[in-house]
Amino acid sequence: MADKSFNAFEMAQAQFDRVAGLLDLDEATRQLLRYNLREYHVSIPVRMDDGSHKVFRGFRVQHNDARGPAKGGIRFHPMETIDTVRALAMWMTWKCAVVDIPLGGGKGGVICDPHHLSMREQEQVCRGWVRQLSKNMGPLTDVPAPDVMTSAQHMLWMLDEFETIRGEKLPGFITGKPVGMGGSLGRTEATGFGVVFTIREALKELNIPPSETTASVQGFGNVAQYAIDLYQQIWGKVVCVSCWDQTDQTSYSFRKKNGIDLAELRGITDRFGGIDKAKAKELGYEILPGEAWLEQDVDILIPAALENQITAANVKKIGDRVKIIAEGANGPTSPEADAAIAKRKIFMIPDLLANAGGVTCSYFEQVQCNMNYFWEKDEVLGKLDVKMTSAFAAVSELAKKRGIYMRDAAYVIAVGRVARACKDRGWV
Ligand code: NAD
Repeated sequence: MADKSFNAFEMAQAQFDRVAGLLDLDEATRQLLRYNLREYHVSIPVRMDDGSHKVFRGFRVQHNDARGPAKGGIRFHPMETIDTVRALAMWMTWKCAVVDIPLGGGKGGVICDPHHLSMREQEQVCRGWVRQLSKNMGPLTDVPAPDVMTSAQHMLWMLDEFETIRGEKLPGFITGKPVGMGGSLGRTEATGFGVVFTIREALKELNIPPSETTASVQGFGNVAQYAIDLYQQIWGKVVCVSCWDQTDQTSYSFRKKNGIDLAELRGITDRFGGIDKAKAKELGYEILPGEAWLEQDVDILIPAALENQITAANVKKIGDRVKIIAEGANGPTSPEADAAIAKRKIFMIPDLLANAGGVTCSYFEQVQCNMNYFWEKDEVLGKLDVKMTSAFAAVSELAKKRGIYMRDAAYVIAVGRVARACKDRGWV
C-alpha cells in the first residue's frame, strides 16, 4: 500500500491476462473477469471523542460472485487505496476457487489508522461502514472478515450493527468472530496448518520423509508460528526464523542450527510477532541480518511475512539445497524472481493455494453459523486437511499433465472454474 509506483490491481490484471491466454478465454469472459462486478465507495461520518466530526472514506469491492457470495476481509489502513482493494478482491475470487469452496471474491477497506483512534471511535467506524453497505452485503451476498488492522472485536461490532438494521440474528454475515460468539475453533491455526498440509503433500511427491528435512521461515506471526508448529509435529526441523524489530526499524533472522524451540521463542515474542533479540541471544540463537532466512542451507523456504520479499535482487541467494518454497504470505515473490525459481525447478506452492487454509476455515465458520451447530477443533482441522490435500492434488496433477509451473496450474484451475460458472449462468 505504501509504494506509490506499485499498482496491485495492474499486477492482478496482468496475471489474469496471462492465465486467460493459457485458457484461451473468449473476449467477453476476459472483459468480465479482469474487472470487478461491483464496487461501492462510501463516506462514514464519525463523531470523535473531542466532539468534532470526521468523515472517513471506505470501500467494498465484489470482484465475482458466480460461484457463491463474495468473501474477503476488510482492512483499516491510512494508505488504503481502491486499487489495492480491487486487486485483493480479485485474488480472493481465485483463492476460493482453487480450494473449491462455494464463494466468490470481495474485499473492503477504510482509510484510517486505528492506532490514532480510541476504541469508541473504531466502533463508530465499523458501525458506520456497515450502515452504508448493509443493503449490498449479507450472508447470501457478501461476507466480510478481518484483515490488516481489524480484529474479532471489529467483526462483532459490524455483526451487531448489521443484525440491528436487519432486525434478526444473522451470524453468517461475517467471519473471524470471537469463539463463543459465532467464531470457529481452529481459525487461529488454519492458515499456518494449511501451509504445512501442502508441504507434506509436496514432500510425498518428491519422495522425501519430512523428518529428513529442514526449513527456514520469514516471519514469526500467526501464519509462521502455526506453520512451524505443525511442521515440527511431522518431525521437520526449523533452523531459522526472521521478524521485524520495531525498535531498530529493521528485520533480523534468528538461527539455531540444531533446530529452534517454538515454545521458547514464543515466550519471548510480542503480539506483533517481534522476537526479543537480547533474550534470544541468551537462549543461544545467532542473530543475523533480516535477509539471512533466505540464504540458509535448507530444503524448504516458507515466506510468511509480507509481499514482495523474494525479488530479482535476492533470488540468487536461495541455496542449491532448496527443493520447496511454500508461500504463506500473499505475493511474497516478485514476477522476476518467480521466473528464476521456475527455471531452477524448485517446487513452488503458490500463495493462492498454500495460504488458502484461512479462507477455507472462514467458510467453515459460516457453515457452522448457518447451521447454528459448532464443530470440535479436531473436526475443523480434519476437514481443512481434506480440502487442502485435494486442492493440492488437483493443482499438482495439472502441473504434471500439462508440464506447467505450479503457480500457472493453480491459476488455470481457479480462473477456469470461475469462467465456467459465469458461462453456465449464461453471463458470457
Ligand atoms: P502477523 O502480523 O501475525 O505476522 C507478521 C510477521 O512478519 C511478524 O512476525 C513480523 O515481525 C514479520 N515481519 C514483518 N515485516 C518483516 C520483514 N521485513 N522481515 C521479516 N519479517 C517481517 O501476520 P500473519 O497473519 O502471520 O500474516 C503473514 C502473511 O500471511 C501476510 O502476507 C498475510 O496477508 C498472509 N496471510 C495471512 C492469513 C491469516 O489467516 N493470518 C491468511 C492468508 C494470508
